[in-house]
Amino acid sequence: MSKVFFASARARKWRYSDSMPGKLESLLAGSIKEKYFDKDEWVAVKTHFGSDGAHRIVRPVFLRIIADAVKNSGAKPFVTDTVRIKGLDYLEVANRNGINHLSVGAPVVLADGLYGNDNIVIKAGEILNEVAIASVIHDASAMIVCSHVKGHINAGYAGAIKNLAMGGVSGRHRSCGWKCGRGSMHTLGEGLFKWDSEKCILCNQCAEICPLDCIEFKDARFEYDSERCWRCGRCTRVCPEGALTFPGDDLIFLKSLPEAAKAVLSTFRPDKVLYINFLTEIQPECDCMPAADVPVVQDIGILVSDDLVAVEMASIDMIRKQAPLPSSLASDQAVKAGQDILLDIHKKPYMTTIDEAVRLGLGSLEYELVEI
Ligand code: SF4
Ligand code: SF4
Repeated sequence: MSKVFFASARARKWRYSDSMPGKLESLLAGSIKEKYFDKDEWVAVKTHFGSDGAHRIVRPVFLRIIADAVKNSGAKPFVTDTVRIKGLDYLEVANRNGINHLSVGAPVVLADGLYGNDNIVIKAGEILNEVAIASVIHDASAMIVCSHVKGHINAGYAGAIKNLAMGGVSGRHRSCGWKCGRGSMHTLGEGLFKWDSEKCILCNQCAEICPLDCIEFKDARFEYDSERCWRCGRCTRVCPEGALTFPGDDLIFLKSLPEAAKAVLSTFRPDKVLYINFLTEIQPECDCMPAADVPVVQDIGILVSDDLVAVEMASIDMIRKQAPLPSSLASDQAVKAGQDILLDIHKKPYMTTIDEAVRLGLGSLEYELVEI
């Protein structure tokens, strides 16, 4: 049975070893062994840099502890993420969110280059066919998948699988464009937008959020550049009226995530990837949104495992035991203690993703929780 190591967010004694940074050090001292990383091996620490306004990411203090642990094992870490907006702007976002070489003690690099098109197409599965893996992740021989666990408007639950799938695949490829990028998970077919003029209030939020400036309104009519559009879905998600949609299917989307994650992991030896899930500041939406809401449950702690499904299942089990926090989206929606909070908030059957990950051989639902 796979082991999942856990450190609680509670500090029951006023000493460093009872703090979350102190406990993360202890967790990693027991987890990062020579079996994972070779001397001088480059280790990708894959995280999410967040966005302007979404500050509830894995904090730099934790990234630094992870980088230090990798260095202590004799290997060489770098912190990385794929481009979500224009590359230089995304590095600035990382910097503003506190992630830079000085703060994390390791180089901070864009996994798919300044333009988000430095990637390598590999075979995926029945849904996606092919995906463009960020070249830095594709070529790295070892990785720590460092995920901020939260809710997600489309995925319901977002943790390590989503971090690998959406975060390991680029927005677009030089030849196949968005169709082998992460947009192929977001939409179906040609991914053509449907704009409802009756619902649209011309607030312009969709145009403002577009990282590629693809959208404009001419004579109060929605227009967009379909060739350049990544199908990232940011515009549809911020639309307050539901006036902008593109074709999608919840179950296909949920199953496409582990398929993409499997493609990303296929570029690594199985014993070269470690997962760290941060169950902290568990807010309802993705870290790429233009704002972070307050958490829907209390901070829980940090989980470490080398089994992708086990670390996800343990995370879900722990969130399910939590009471919804007052003054949060969970309480707005009258979610009660004992209910599945993330399921009730977003109404997405997120276990589809986990079950598909098991079917694809990405790990085990059964785990042994080892608390430090
Ligand atoms: S999906 Fe929307 S926000 Fe994303 S690139 Fe296309 S038009 Fe812009
Ligand atoms: S965000 Fe929605 S309501 Fe606002 S302009 Fe765009 S389509 Fe219209």
